[in-house]
Amino acid sequence: MKRAITLIAVHCTATVEGRPFTVESIRSMHKAQGWSDIGYHWLIGINGEVWAGRPEAVQGSHIKGHNRDSIGICYVGGIGRDGKAKDTRTPAQLAALKTLLEMKRAENPAAKIRGHRDMSPDADGDGKVEPHEWLKMCPCFDVVSWCKAQGIDPL
Ligand SMILES: [Zn+2]
Repeated sequence: MKRAITLIAVHCTATVEGRPFTVESIRSMHKAQGWSDIGYHWLIGINGEVWAGRPEAVQGSHIKGHNRDSIGICYVGGIGRDGKAKDTRTPAQLAALKTLLEMKRAENPAAKIRGHRDMSPDADGDGKVEPHEWLKMCPCFDVVSWCKAQGIDPL
């Protein structure tokens, strides 16, 4: 049975900018921690390569409490050379992410597009997930405003 997708979640690998990783290297890392496969459904390399990770028909392992109904997309990077969280997306990654999200938007019209950090618990219960509530910085940029700027409706 096809999974009903309600969330398209964007991640970063939390690796230092400029360091290349392939889908096989990330897959090996995730399997080494005991997972059946790479946790993400799609991976975008630093040169804009778009690799299929775990098949979309299979639940991923990328966002606690939201894996069942989501697709996980990850770009390689997210950490600056100073070790701090940073939007390290290269021009090729920006273009690849835009194209991939446009495709996933069309395939999943009811799904929200969010960053991993946007799915953190709303600790103070004011109806918004604010920066002080982020459990992680991932994916190190504001997915909702970036999507809107690209003409992609994040819902
Ligand atoms: Zn993440």
